[in-house]
Amino acid sequence: MDLKDLYRDVILDHNRQPRNFGRLDPCDTSADGNNPLCGDRLTLTLRLDGDRISDIRFEGKGCAISTASASLMTEAVKGRDAAAVARLRELVQQALTAHGDSGPPPSELGKLAALAGVREYPARVKCASLCWHTLDAALGHRTDGSPAGGASVSTE
Ligand code: ZN
Repeated sequence: MDLKDLYRDVILDHNRQPRNFGRLDPCDTSADGNNPLCGDRLTLTLRLDGDRISDIRFEGKGCAISTASASLMTEAVKGRDAAAVARLRELVQQALTAHGDSGPPPSELGKLAALAGVREYPARVKCASLCWHTLDAALGHRTDGSPAGGASVSTE
């Protein structure tokens, strides 16, 4: 299966049936993300066990790429600690912005590799990276237990 087929199948699947959709209440941290270029909005709520993400949900409205990317991200980071999340974030960023003959995405990415297909559409890279910026904001900001009033981030 080439990258374009993988991209289309995974994005369609996760857009149609987003995983971990909803809101954790109470939560340990939360953040809102906003991509004004496309109109994507996203709220992440997380439960943490030390520096490990024990549970994560997302809610929001956006294009297929932002929804699928958030769905894939929640699956990928659940149960991982901060160092593993930071590593994944870096690999995703590289996959999204790689140019030309950079070769196939690393196998460590798993299904997140499908996001590398976004590099064919540079205008959509911010749609795919919004959830990762929002996760960063959430991890840097603990709330008082309520999903409202978390950090917020804009891609602009
Ligand atoms: Zn978008």
